[in-house]
Amino acid sequence: MASTPNPPPRSNANPFDPMMGQLEELEPGLAMFHGFANVAFAYGRGEMIAADTSSRAMGARAIEAIRKVTDEPVTVIVYTHGHGDHAFGTEAFIADALARGYPRPKIWAHEDLRGRFKRYARTAGWQSHINRLQFGATSQAVAGIFKEDSYHYPDLTFRGMQLLELAGEAVELHHALGETDDAVWVWLPLRRVAMVGDLIVSSLPNTGNPNKVQRYTLEWAEALEKIAARKPKYVLPGHGPAYRGEAECQELLLDTARAMRFIHDAVIARLNAGQWPVDIIEAGIELPRELAEKPFLAPVYGCVPFVVRDVIRRYAGWWSGEPSQMFPAPRTERGRDIVALCGRDALLRRAKELQAAGYLERALSLAEIAHNADGDDLEAIALNAEILEAMASVERSFIARNFFAGAARALRERLKP
Ligand SMILES: [Zn+2]
Repeated sequence: MASTPNPPPRSNANPFDPMMGQLEELEPGLAMFHGFANVAFAYGRGEMIAADTSSRAMGARAIEAIRKVTDEPVTVIVYTHGHGDHAFGTEAFIADALARGYPRPKIWAHEDLRGRFKRYARTAGWQSHINRLQFGATSQAVAGIFKEDSYHYPDLTFRGMQLLELAGEAVELHHALGETDDAVWVWLPLRRVAMVGDLIVSSLPNTGNPNKVQRYTLEWAEALEKIAARKPKYVLPGHGPAYRGEAECQELLLDTARAMRFIHDAVIARLNAGQWPVDIIEAGIELPRELAEKPFLAPVYGCVPFVVRDVIRRYAGWWSGEPSQMFPAPRTERGRDIVALCGRDALLRRAKELQAAGYLERALSLAEIAHNADGDDLEAIALNAEILEAMASVERSFIARNFFAGAARALRERLKP
């Protein structure tokens, strides 16, 4: 990306949802609980379906909220995918059913969700570590949530498409690839309601998450086009507000699909022209203005550079194309070589000049070299922390912002006596 000064600091309020913690009744028999991740409820004929159960903390609040509106038993839970903020609130739903003497809800998911839970259990320490940073959570909030015995596995799984009945009403489950390989969208044909999980997140879609497995930019677009073809009256997303009315839903689904296709195709064109990943990443790709200006495509969670990396990783592996990065020299040695050439003071001075001029990425790369050369250099540590805090204060992507802030906090810890 062209190097320009960073914009001045802006507000760091959570971009997602002013209705957090509340239930929104959309029409009789249709409601959405706004958690960090939402829960979509359809009911009204004597049985209730819940798309997702939110997080461990929010699941209990979701069921408590829907109980103020209806006593119908939750007979079906569908996991729209296996992420912890969507599928870890199930305990409270089961407890509600048991307390009321209702049958235990049947949990449906795509067949690949089981493998996801197993992978999380296998990498529980890593999952806790990266999710704590990504969401800016405390260690307690993530403690133990990925351990083998903490999951409610689905009772029933499908691949492709699955037809269900909810008190005589048809319910379709469709598999998709998007943020995950186990994505499911729920379609209620009679009501023209689509419960889409994280196929819509009220931000530019989050493919290319820095620390997570491969995601699916092109297939994400295809899934949204399929949903749009059903002409939904409501799109209930995994995060953010409910979308309503055919026109609003078409715009949301098709413009999001166009954005994903645009980035995907731009990366492919450059790869086909023989550009290396590092060239593509440095040149950057910009969405056409009419897409970039859509509020539902704001880069407040995922962002364009992450999507670019998702596409590169899918087709072109991990090497940047820089010869020195095939078997990189240790960064401590590289740092010491540069410090030996120009001196540590000159390096820090230049980093500060760049920081003052608002070139934060360039400032950070120099400050990082000084820190790498001498990990105990307190001035270098403080300068790195300061630059990272400045980057967090202007970063729009929630994920990138939390990583910058987390890295700054870890450095500040080093400065404590
Ligand atoms: Zn989510």
